[in-house]
Amino acid sequence: MARPRSTAAKRPAARRSTMVRSKDRATSTPAARRAVLKRIKDEGVEHVLFWFTDLEGHLKSFAITPSEMEEALNDGMGFDGSSITGFNAIEESDMVAIPDPASYQLMPRPLDEHGQPVGANVARMICDVVTPDGAPYEGDPRFVLRRALERMQDLGFDAFNVGPELEYFVFEDDKGTETIDEGGYFAMTAQDAATEMRNDTIAALESVGIPIEYHHHEVGPSQHEIDMRYADALAMADYTVTYRLIVKEVAAWHGYYATFMPKPLFGENGSGMHTHMSLFKGGRNQFFDRRDQYHLSPVAKGFIAGLLVHAREISGVLAQWVNSYKRLVPGYEAPVYVGWSQRNRSALVRIPLYKPGSEQATRAEIRCPDPACNPYLAFAALLHAGLDGIEKGYELPGPMESNLYRLTSDERREQGIVSLPESLGDAIDELAGSELMQRVLGEHIFPRYIELKRREWDEYRVQVTEWEKDKYLAAL
Ligand code: GLU
Ligand code: MG
Repeated sequence: MARPRSTAAKRPAARRSTMVRSKDRATSTPAARRAVLKRIKDEGVEHVLFWFTDLEGHLKSFAITPSEMEEALNDGMGFDGSSITGFNAIEESDMVAIPDPASYQLMPRPLDEHGQPVGANVARMICDVVTPDGAPYEGDPRFVLRRALERMQDLGFDAFNVGPELEYFVFEDDKGTETIDEGGYFAMTAQDAATEMRNDTIAALESVGIPIEYHHHEVGPSQHEIDMRYADALAMADYTVTYRLIVKEVAAWHGYYATFMPKPLFGENGSGMHTHMSLFKGGRNQFFDRRDQYHLSPVAKGFIAGLLVHAREISGVLAQWVNSYKRLVPGYEAPVYVGWSQRNRSALVRIPLYKPGSEQATRAEIRCPDPACNPYLAFAALLHAGLDGIEKGYELPGPMESNLYRLTSDERREQGIVSLPESLGDAIDELAGSELMQRVLGEHIFPRYIELKRREWDEYRVQVTEWEKDKYLAAL
């Protein structure tokens, strides 16, 4: 079986972007650019891929030869953005991709039967997109996240640390949902045909500088989870899009297909992207408070309150597909109700239990995002919602320790428990009416995102499904 080239499992420090703030022209230091040119030479790289994402988080890529790299690093590389979802149409479609030197990585390759890597040496760099006059492009999702991080800095914090837990299924191919194992949660090797593939995936992820902490078979058949060590949000969004590509590539090397579709199998758990979050300042976790009953600081409480208050409005970017809402239903460990808890996994926000000595790990986990989101937009929305809570002093309601699935709808109403949107249509209506989301996405993206997602919803809602035919045809 083809295996990825595995470099040591040494854990690199969280990567920091060497780019300047987005108000200035996005560019990098000469030393950082020289270091990239040296690596291209030393590593015998034949092509460098320039990556960015469209509005929905699909990776877009074009290749540069080493001879063009010096100029491309200095001035960026022009491209036509007119066919990129959410970018400008024909009139103003000239865009420039500026590669971030901190993101340079050699891509992993499969090995042949003699243990030799197959194909050419290819590196990748993640880009900021700017207009021809050098201004940050409002349609670039990475810029949306940069803008959110600037707001955070203006409020006195220096890092938004996030740790997303991406789950995914592995199927025989992309034509159906034929599973490759029946293993369940934490299933051991004998049952878990995909363990070797998962180990290869981890080696490939670590080879591109993505530190892995934890991995296991998930609840569903053929369902897996590989968790990255937390990092600041910009690096983590870059890691997340890279992670998705590598998981799919390594599965393909093994002859399988990996998918981040939120709910591919009826009657089984879906795939979530529970996201752990905290704010740091001067290297210290601002969410921790020794004296508080829950060990949560006023900052943490404000942040969580912000998530709860705005949960319905931000849902349309955390769970952005028609299929996302098939996952957010009772009974499958995915959240449905807007509330927080220490133990209860049916709540939207969970506070992992404090262990003495783990002040730096105090964090909030939001459970509604799914791994098919655009992580740049998702992290930006989470951060803005939390910062609104801190800045405006929202009050955190008490925790919900009972299993919310067991309450009747009357009991939920009496207790004032709000649900997440039930469909993409509901979520986009909420998003469209949200002043917060207008700020998060900005003038360019906000209307385009709504239009794109309404079109998807309209396309779906006119379908006549198998379920309807089974249910109604013979009876009506
Ligand atoms: N797969 C579940 C979800 O859709 C989560 C299972 C877990 O707790 O990790 O969110
Ligand atoms: Mg999980």
